[in-house]
Amino acid sequence: MAIILGIESTAHTFGIGIVKDGKILSNVKKSYVTDKGGIIPIEAAKHHNENKEKIYLGALENSGTNEKEIDAIAISQGPGLAPCLLQGMNFAKELSKKIQKPIIPVNHCVAHLEIGKLTGAKDPVMLYASGANTQIISYSSGKFRIFGETLDLGVGNFIDTFARYAGRGFPGGPIIEKLAKEGKNFIELPYSVKGMDISLSGILTNLKKRIESENSNLNDLAYSMQETVFAMLVEVSERALAHTGKKELLLGGGVACNSRLQEMCRIMCEERGAKFFCPEKSLLVDNAAMIAFLGEIMFNKGIFISSNKIDALDICPRQRTDEVEVNWK
Ligand code: AMP
Ligand code: MG
Repeated sequence: MAIILGIESTAHTFGIGIVKDGKILSNVKKSYVTDKGGIIPIEAAKHHNENKEKIYLGALENSGTNEKEIDAIAISQGPGLAPCLLQGMNFAKELSKKIQKPIIPVNHCVAHLEIGKLTGAKDPVMLYASGANTQIISYSSGKFRIFGETLDLGVGNFIDTFARYAGRGFPGGPIIEKLAKEGKNFIELPYSVKGMDISLSGILTNLKKRIESENSNLNDLAYSMQETVFAMLVEVSERALAHTGKKELLLGGGVACNSRLQEMCRIMCEERGAKFFCPEKSLLVDNAAMIAFLGEIMFNKGIFISSNKIDALDICPRQRTDEVEVNWK
């Protein structure tokens, strides 16, 4: 019976979540947003610094636990933006020293996949479509393998850049989804699947040119972008299902909030007799409950660093999903 406090701070979101016996007791977060322009890492880190204490107290209060009951602190170690990751790491170290409890270093991408267990997914292929990351991940032969990924931009960052170019703020995904619903005419855009990988920079250039031309309709562009790019994601996800022989597709990441992407994944799964799993929104986007959830699994297997040994612990801004030592399965 462990109570694990998780901390998430890889990018725009600072969150604290508390999990006990695989149940989420609280999941509090605050995200950095802008009216114009994208994420400035130093500004996002400042946002985290200003809000962390309040989020921490809110998470404790919502969970009905007090600080002394926490058994360990799980931290999102990477991948992510270094200034943001440092905010979480420093907070974790201070707390660890204060309450004399260990730290569990967690990979953010793997946490997105493992939280799928709450939806009933047992051994899924995950389409992880977030801001900075776009990967098709599945567990195979002792590691989480990347079966396909973006060769350049993460799909969320791509959509945000498109939105920013069209004069919209951050995050652009929800705005573009709304515009896309009004789009009527499909405009052919480059379809860029290379083996199991996708590439988005060429499509972005194409979209930018069209935005600059006077007769482009933003609703039609948003609609065509979604149809094209989401079809690319679904194609590689389906191929990963075929290759691994697995029968479950799990969505993860902020872009997975998009109802058209969900619909396209559901249709593909129905057509090939696979099950489709999509966590609720609060667990799809960056959140700390998933960090605590995986942290608890690792903690129960004895994977943690005692509070007297945490000085050497560092962030891993470029940690790859397939680098992670999986000692808990
Ligand atoms: P994450 O990094 O996983 O928290 O996801 C953040 C990304 O998700 C940002 O790039 C958002 O623009 C994107 N996003 C959020 N909601 C939607 C949506 N409804 N459609 C497309 N992208 C979205
Ligand atoms: Mg994420």
